[in-house]
Amino acid sequence: KGHVQIRDVSVRFGVKGQTTEAASRVSLEVKPGEFVSIIGPSGCGKSTLLNIVAGFIRPSDGEALLDGRPIGGPGADRGVVFQQYSLFPWMTVRKNVEFGLKMQGLGQNQRASAARSLLGMTGLLSFENHYPDQLSGGMKQRVGIVRALATSPQVMLMDEPFGALDSQTRAVMQEILTNMWQQLQLSVLFITHDIEEAIFLSEKVYVMTARPGRIKAEIPIPLPRP
Ligand code: ADP
Ligand code: ADP
Repeated sequence: KGHVQIRDVSVRFGVKGQTTEAASRVSLEVKPGEFVSIIGPSGCGKSTLLNIVAGFIRPSDGEALLDGRPIGGPGADRGVVFQQYSLFPWMTVRKNVEFGLKMQGLGQNQRASAARSLLGMTGLLSFENHYPDQLSGGMKQRVGIVRALATSPQVMLMDEPFGALDSQTRAVMQEILTNMWQQLQLSVLFITHDIEEAIFLSEKVYVMTARPGRIKAEIPIPLPRP
């Protein structure tokens, strides 16, 4: 479970009569339970590829598969975390975590207890009634990750989740993410600008080039990792 395959995918956006090719004949794979990063310059198509796996956009050519089936749209089997705006500011921490569970049709008491248990595991329980504005950047992203994990996805899709954090907080978050990944046996597709971060976290790194957005290299990172 959690096997992502992108096969020969191209994405073209048309804006004001101009066509931009955001990704050009890209193939990549995240095996079940694997931690895979994509690095590359701004505009090379990293977010576009992640959004395809999330089901937010469709390839112009090629195919995107999850566990052998074409990805038709978003689903609870994929958790998504962005750099910003991952949380609803008008909801408390707990309501944010409950959000996906509500979509799945869980009742109020079940939602609350599932959310409390997840928050407890990540040391966030005492903040359950806080609003996102009352939390530090690192805490917000921690809640964002917990929220994405609440529906027990097989795949986590993370688009520069730590990009806005200072280096110390970033290091703490990398540890937390590594622990969660090992415990939950998730597949992760992780986007970053930071080669060190990619090497620290991943088992495999794809390097992309811009214009056109192509995969230039696929680098396995053998254990033990730095
Ligand atoms: P990255 O995440 O690597 O910075 P993106 O995937 O965001 O790159 O963007 C790749 C290219 O596609 C860029 O040239 C960007 O301007 C363009 N692009 C992305 N999304 C859209 C869109 N919705 N409409 C038009 N062009 C887009
Ligand atoms: P519960 O049934 O768990 O008590 P609510 O229905 O009260 O949850 O909603 C939880 C939170 O989500 C509240 O803060 C509410 O303001 C917010 N909310 C619910 N629906 C919407 C919506 N359509 N747009 C914006 N905020 C919403």
